[in-house]
Amino acid sequence: MKFSRQTTLRAQATVAGVGVHSGLPVTLTLGPAPVDAGFIFVRTGLEGSDREVQAIADQVIATDLATVLGDRNGPLVSTAEHVLAALRGMGVDNATIEIDGPEVPIMDGSAAAFIAAIDQAGIVTQPAQRRFIQVLKPISVKIGDSFGEIRPYATGFRAEVEIDFTNPVIGQQSYAFDLSAERFRREVGRARTFGLMSDVARLWSAGYALGASFDNTVVFDEERLLNTEGLRYADECARHKVLDVIGDLALAGLPLLGAYRSVRGGHKLNHAVLTALLADRTAWRVVEGEAVRRTTRPVAETGRSIVGGRIAAAYGPDVS
Ligand SMILES: [Zn+2]
Repeated sequence: MKFSRQTTLRAQATVAGVGVHSGLPVTLTLGPAPVDAGFIFVRTGLEGSDREVQAIADQVIATDLATVLGDRNGPLVSTAEHVLAALRGMGVDNATIEIDGPEVPIMDGSAAAFIAAIDQAGIVTQPAQRRFIQVLKPISVKIGDSFGEIRPYATGFRAEVEIDFTNPVIGQQSYAFDLSAERFRREVGRARTFGLMSDVARLWSAGYALGASFDNTVVFDEERLLNTEGLRYADECARHKVLDVIGDLALAGLPLLGAYRSVRGGHKLNHAVLTALLADRTAWRVVEGEAVRRTTRPVAETGRSIVGGRIAAAYGPDVS
C-alpha cells in the first residue's frame, strides 16, 4: 500500500470480451469515482434506466462458480472477482465499473486485461486519507472440508492459499502472497482461471461455462494439461486462487489489514469468512493513514458514508 491517500482512475478505459458462463459479448469501462465511493458497478443496456450496485458483501447473491452481485430485483453482475482483484491489487480505492451485459468479460482468464486498462487510465491520488478495515481478532469458518480464517496482520494484506485436488495434475499446491501493486502485477495478476475437462459437460448442461475455451481457461484432464501453450507459473492454480481471494475480499468495501488463509476454498468460503468478519463488530475497526508505516489511526465518524450498507452503519459511536 504505497499511497496514504485514496486513489481513483485518471480517465476511462474500456475492455471488450465475452462472459465465461454466458458466452455473451460484453464491454466493460473502468472510470473515476469520488472519494469514499468504493467500487460501483453500473449496469447499462437494460430496459429502462441504468442500475448501480455497490461492490460490497451485502450485495452478493450467489457464489456457486463465480461471485454474483445484485439487488432485490435479481442478479446484475456476474463473475465480479477478477476486475475487483485488479482494482484492489493495483491500489485503486474508488472506481466505477460500467458494464453493458450480465457478466464481466473473462478475457484471458486472468486479471491482465484489467491491469492493462488501469495502466491505460492512470491512477491519481485524491484529497482524503486511505481507509482500511483492520482485523482485530481471528475469525474462521469451516464449510465441509474447506477452512478459511482471517487474522490480524498490521502492515497490509496477506493471502495464504492451499489447494488439494484429487486430480493428480493439479494435486496439492500452496501459495502465500503479501499484497503490493508491484507483486500483484508480477506474481498473481496473470494467473488464469482453471478447470477440469471432466466438469465441462456437466457445466454446459447446467448452462455454465458456455464461453469457456482454451483462450480463457487452463484445462486439465486426469493425465495432463490440455492447453498447448503450457502454464504461466508451475503453481498457476494456487496463484489464481489468490487472485480470486483478493477480488472476493475487495467486497469488504475497503482494503483489509489482515492475513487470510484458505484451505480447499473458493468463492463461497471467501464470502463466508468476510461476512462472518463484518458481522462481528469486535473483530474489526476502520483505520486511516499509511499502513506500511504503521501510522494508521482509528476513525470514529458519523454522517459520512464510505461505501454504504454495513460499513457506513459501522461508523457509529461504538467505533473505538
Ligand atoms: Zn477466478
